[in-house]
Amino acid sequence: MTINLFSDTQTRPTDAMRAAMASAEVGDEQRKADPTVNELQERMADLLGKERAIFFPTGTMCNLVAIAAHTTHGDSIVLEHSGHVLRSETSGAAAVSGCVIETIRGERGMFTVEQLNEVMTPGNQYAPPTRLVCLEQTHNFAGGTVWPLDRYSTVADAAHDAGVVVHTDGARLMNAVVASGASAEAWAAPVDTIWVDFTKGLGAPTGAVLAGDDEVMERAWLLKHRFGGAMRQAGIVAAGCLHALDHHVDRLADDHANARRLADGLAELGFTVTPPDTNLVYVDPRPVGLTAKGFATAMASHNIEISTIGDRNRLCTHLDVSTADVDAALDAVRAVLAEGPTDGLTAAPPAYDG
Ligand SMILES: *Cc1c(COP(=O)(O)O)cnc(C)c1O
Repeated sequence: MTINLFSDTQTRPTDAMRAAMASAEVGDEQRKADPTVNELQERMADLLGKERAIFFPTGTMCNLVAIAAHTTHGDSIVLEHSGHVLRSETSGAAAVSGCVIETIRGERGMFTVEQLNEVMTPGNQYAPPTRLVCLEQTHNFAGGTVWPLDRYSTVADAAHDAGVVVHTDGARLMNAVVASGASAEAWAAPVDTIWVDFTKGLGAPTGAVLAGDDEVMERAWLLKHRFGGAMRQAGIVAAGCLHALDHHVDRLADDHANARRLADGLAELGFTVTPPDTNLVYVDPRPVGLTAKGFATAMASHNIEISTIGDRNRLCTHLDVSTADVDAALDAVRAVLAEGPTDGLTAAPPAYDG
């Protein structure tokens, strides 16, 4: 049996989720006539305390549509330098919305009001105006980190004071909710739009929901259709998301505990570990004499899938990873270390740049 720590996108729908999907009432989503999609949208608008929420096929499309809804071509948007919108969405903001991206080098994915004020500009004959700031909660490439609520709100307020709108990529927002104890509504209130992915730790096969006030969401509704995201009997997949809301939120705490157990074990074995706030464990394997690629390959030979991101590996806990699986993964790491480097590489000093 393979233990899949590659990503929390690797979960399979449970039997109970499949049953809920199989019995879902459906209609034409594109004509707002799918009752299950409508129920999910109402529940998410309520959960996030926004006027309207819209179901999307993917989180990437939530970001794409939100940015298009908030900006016009030639605008500048602000992102933390390792933000998913910039690093993993095939330049959607530039290619589709014609936005210039201004980055801030954050710490653990977070930046300060001072850093934000340095890059925001009303624009002039030469410089593009800053229209939008994108936050990421939790921040994926920084290590599944959780912005503290006061810091997050202060940054959002500073953007608003400058007349700039704020969008939160909340792919793993529910992980932040469980880790912080602050409600989804508390994270949504300071920002204009926010979305939640159901295909990460929540364990559904398809879907994400974007929320905001009526005006921006009406633009989002048209843009979703323009980009080909308007669906038909989407209640089949929305039912999986509703099931996840009912059954897979509180249990994210288990994933976080498993991530800490994994992180502690890897640190003990000599890896440089970014202490996890949530379910993502980033490690630098060079202190134990392995490259990230070499470590992933060696783990795969023990039937443990992990991912490689630059010089680091990411190990991710989720619904389909038990505490026993974490212990089995640590046993495999011990075996890999006993085998020694497989790619001819010896230990090099880690060189983090943030
Ligand atoms: C996964 C992810 C996305 C994209 O979501 P998809 O549903 O895979 O399109 C966007 N932002 C972050 C932070 C993510 O982790």
